Amino acid sequence: METPAIYAGQSLRLLRLDGGIAELCFDRACESVNKFDIRTIDELKAATALIAADTSILGLLVTSAKEGFIVGADIYGITALFDRSESEIAAFIGARSMAFTALAALPLPIVTALNGVAMGGGFEIALAGDYRLMADTARLGLPEVNLGVFPAFGGCIRLPRLIGAVQALDWIATGKPQTAQAALAVAAVDACMPLAELRAAALATLRAAIADGAWKQRRQLRRGAVTRFDADLYAQLKAAAASNARHYPAALAAAEFIESTAMMSEAEALLLEPATVTRLVRTPTARALVQLFISDQIIRKKGRDYVAAARDLKQGGVLGAGIMGGGIAYASAARGIPVLMKDIAQTQLDLGKREARKLLDRQVKAGNLKAEKAEMIDASIQPTLSYAEFARNDIVIEAVVENLGVKQRVLAEVESQVGADCVLASNTSSLSIGEIASALTRPENFAGMHFFNPVPVMPLVEVIRGTRTSDSTAATVAAYAVAMGKTPVVVQDCAGFLVNRILTAYFVGFLKLIRDGADFEQVDRVMEAFGWPMGPAYLQDVIGIDTSSHVIEFISAAYPERMQLDFEHAIALMARLQRYGQKNGQGFYRYEADARGRLVKQASPEAKELVAQGQVGAGRSFSDQEIVDRLMLPMIVESAVCLEQGVAASAAEIDMSLILGLGFPRHHGGALKYADLLGVDRVVAACESYAGLGGGYRATAGMRTLATRGGRYYG
Ligand code: NAD
Repeated sequence: METPAIYAGQSLRLLRLDGGIAELCFDRACESVNKFDIRTIDELKAATALIAADTSILGLLVTSAKEGFIVGADIYGITALFDRSESEIAAFIGARSMAFTALAALPLPIVTALNGVAMGGGFEIALAGDYRLMADTARLGLPEVNLGVFPAFGGCIRLPRLIGAVQALDWIATGKPQTAQAALAVAAVDACMPLAELRAAALATLRAAIADGAWKQRRQLRRGAVTRFDADLYAQLKAAAASNARHYPAALAAAEFIESTAMMSEAEALLLEPATVTRLVRTPTARALVQLFISDQIIRKKGRDYVAAARDLKQGGVLGAGIMGGGIAYASAARGIPVLMKDIAQTQLDLGKREARKLLDRQVKAGNLKAEKAEMIDASIQPTLSYAEFARNDIVIEAVVENLGVKQRVLAEVESQVGADCVLASNTSSLSIGEIASALTRPENFAGMHFFNPVPVMPLVEVIRGTRTSDSTAATVAAYAVAMGKTPVVVQDCAGFLVNRILTAYFVGFLKLIRDGADFEQVDRVMEAFGWPMGPAYLQDVIGIDTSSHVIEFISAAYPERMQLDFEHAIALMARLQRYGQKNGQGFYRYEADARGRLVKQASPEAKELVAQGQVGAGRSFSDQEIVDRLMLPMIVESAVCLEQGVAASAAEIDMSLILGLGFPRHHGGALKYADLLGVDRVVAACESYAGLGGGYRATAGMRTLATRGGRYYG
């Protein structure tokens, strides 16, 4: 017999079970996961009102009919808030939070069965109830700080009252999902068990609660002040949150909120919650992080589409066992695709294998990998000096020296050794994919696959389409990147591809700024304060000034209308004087190894003097804002040009590439999101004020159109 429904909505239903028990079951129609959007909250309110009015209901079981419990708030719903006024946002949040509070106020025991992932609102609804039971395999957490906000449905109030202020802040400030074991250890849940036993156990808990009424006292305790607050430990966590608060204010705001409401009743604290969350919703950081979350989803979906359109990938091949080839072979093998790694020198093959072994041993030592699995991975990287077994490769990545003639010859050679469907890709960092392809008989099977160094760490892979690359080849190369756990972004063939091209625009801005008299140490300080992991001068030293000098020369020459460098700039000067940066201890800074062998950066008066020689405006002072403008505007302009020329398909892909490939500060969301946050009209106006510096500061036609109609890169 079907269980009678008291209420049936699109996101949840309320069912009548035996013994005065009702079940509130989340089961979002036509979707694989449950989430909190406006409709779900409205249905929750409706179901709660029905329960409140029905005196025959003595206890409530909260469940999910999906594999997960509830994944959290509907992120698109958050974006809808961004353009509202402060009072509208606060009213919106307050009304949503009230739905949870109304549930929490029902005069009956509430038991939640957490069968799978319960994040954000998913965990907060469980916190609104009295008892929580959790499947061993489930995860829960409050990840809102990762979106630049903090839990808005009572999470910052109910969690500290349940597990203590220190533990609650730790969970909220890191935003990490917690295992069932971790949740049980701090009594965030009452019990954990195998999923198969969860429902019966939750029902038994509920029946017992109805019978003994112990839930009333438990609830009473939790409605008062926070009872566990270790001030010293709390201060430490708060200080950690404060250290990052300039760009990421949410964790500190959570710390301050928990502290300032700790002595209040739950009801009093709830009244203050909407205003604090509203303040965070209105920060640029929240806008940037929410957009990145959405962009990430879009790019993942594209990745799945590439995988669906790709050819089979069972066996890979790598040519060149150097820094990059060795890393690529490791990344492939570690993710289950065996590789034939070919080089012309046995010493290089030995080196490549040793590198892979080192990476595997490190993982075994850290407890992330079983020793037997490491052996298997190691064995699946097969070094070779010949093409003998290359016929079985589905894909081959070329990573030999950066020389057009050598690459053309090697790729033509390998093409004659592999099957007609085998995909070939080059890890070239600068050569034209079209030109390399001209040496091939099957150019449609060829694309660029640009990894970043170090391969095991860097998440981005640019997949470069030559004019003759087929859709299936581009999809297969992208799918190989997905198989390695990387994020592929498909880009068109042009000098510098996407990331290095945009980076070069930034470096050209830097070099002109230095020429005009800026102090590179100040520039580094300002750009680091802006959020870059390192300033541009320091970054040169880390990349290696000889390498960087070549890259800048090559890429800037390809875009003379925006990147012309018609003076001997600081990087060329350093390269000429063999100040190569970290690799030989001298660059913009001086480097010396400390006792543990780590390079320590120190000021270099010599470098300052050298740079001063090439300066036309020595002694002129620059404000922080001018420094930021002069470096970031060319980056925005070049990103806009790339979008308009279709070098990448979307603003999301360009911004994500800058974030994953360069470490662009996440709180600014990428160059185009940053333009949105500033206002494209203001960016265009700023460009005009620097027009004398050259084409790199000339707003594009697309930027001007957006500016005149008040548009944005992200709708
Ligand atoms: P590397 O000098 O460390 O390695 C090149 C390897 O290729 C050497 O082991 C060499 O013996 C081998 N080799 C040369 N000719 C060969 C042939 N005919 N057949 C097989 N192997 C051959 O160079 P790397 O830094 O690994 O760079 C490789 C490629 O990756 C270059 O195109 C480079 O531009 C590109 N890349 C490098 C980086 C980086 O940061 N190093 C980043 C992105 C892309």
